[in-house]
Amino acid sequence: MEIVTAGSSNTGKTHSAGGRAVSCRRNYSRELEKLISGLGGRAPTLLLHACCAPCSSASLEYLSRYFSISLLYYNPNISPIGEYEKRLGELQRLVRELPVENPVSILPCEYRGEDFANMAAGLEGEPEGGMRCMACYRLRLEEAARAASEHGFEYFTTTLTISPLKNAGAINRIGEELSEKYGVKHLPSDLKKRDGYKRSIELSRIYGLYRQDYCGCIYSRLERERIKERRADNLDT
Ligand code: SF4
Repeated sequence: MEIVTAGSSNTGKTHSAGGRAVSCRRNYSRELEKLISGLGGRAPTLLLHACCAPCSSASLEYLSRYFSISLLYYNPNISPIGEYEKRLGELQRLVRELPVENPVSILPCEYRGEDFANMAAGLEGEPEGGMRCMACYRLRLEEAARAASEHGFEYFTTTLTISPLKNAGAINRIGEELSEKYGVKHLPSDLKKRDGYKRSIELSRIYGLYRQDYCGCIYSRLERERIKERRADNLDT
């Protein structure tokens, strides 16, 4: 989980009804609650893309009450590889230590940094939250959808929507497109809602989880270093 420094947008559309502007913004958190209430006590299989342990903590605590979960740690965006391994180690520890109601496992997945490098080519100068991030969401969700289809999961989704820095609307729209492409159901989510983000901070403290201070890719790391340098310069003057 990167430390929050800015808000994110969840763009909704508006249309006119009787001269009044009506918001068409979808509430993905409510959609998830409605879907859960229709499960009738059944715990379907869910392939949950996991970006890191802090974001997975509250996501797992909540979703494991209703689903049998396998985590997919497919994050070729994370750089350097030592950081990737550190976040993976924390996720493995969390799965061992966090009490859950239905089984949670981790699906093996190799580090494929070239997937991200190929995707990000030409998008290096994009700001955080821009086109590179949209492509990064898609890259990771597409692998989750593909793997969910290959292994016969009923649903797939991602922990990414627990971060207030991530665009939950865009993530859900991408998930729905991939659901069509791979023939596996996308689980709608906006996991930061219902105090999900706040709970992830609490659980990170309780379990002593490592919380990184940058999103993951080299560009977000360089941006974080620039911000730190500017702060240090301001303190010196
Ligand atoms: S800033 Fe985060 S979401 Fe955006 S490209 Fe980098 S790793 Fe991906």
